Amino acid sequence: MGYKEDGVISIDDLKLPNEEQLKKGVAIVECLENIPCNPCVEACPFGAITMRDLNDTPKVNYDKCTGCKRCIAVCPGLAIFVVKLEGEDALISLPYEFLPVPKKGDVVFALDREGKVRGNAKVEEVRKVGKTHIITIRTKKEDAMVVRNIRVVK
Ligand code: SF4
Ligand code: SF4
Repeated sequence: MGYKEDGVISIDDLKLPNEEQLKKGVAIVECLENIPCNPCVEACPFGAITMRDLNDTPKVNYDKCTGCKRCIAVCPGLAIFVVKLEGEDALISLPYEFLPVPKKGDVVFALDREGKVRGNAKVEEVRKVGKTHIITIRTKKEDAMVVRNIRVVK
């Protein structure tokens, strides 16, 4: 099933980067609605995100994207992630606006797009940009395109 059928984005809905692009780290923009919004385009210092017009969906040029993460916190839809492959691991940076905020070194639940637990992940970095935290977790390479949220272990 895909986004049009059940509202949950699947990798079939996305134009994905190749393995080499994922090794350097790139933004995965999971924004499929034609809404008037474009702060992600404005936020990218490398011109890696483009839209034909304000109502278009954003497209990422994975060769231009450096994985700098500047686009993550500006997205009001929390739809931008940066994914980087490191050996057998995937580093996933995601926007996080819940409490409590995890700390570097914590082990958290890694969740898929439906909120189901895929396993555990280790928090590698916590950054605050405005009211949004950017949490970078380390998880399994095979979950690079599956894990898109976390839940703090109490
Ligand atoms: S991660 Fe950085 S370079 Fe890549 S699209 Fe976002 S702002 Fe641009
Ligand atoms: S800022 Fe977020 S919601 Fe707005 S166009 Fe970009 S990805 Fe979509």
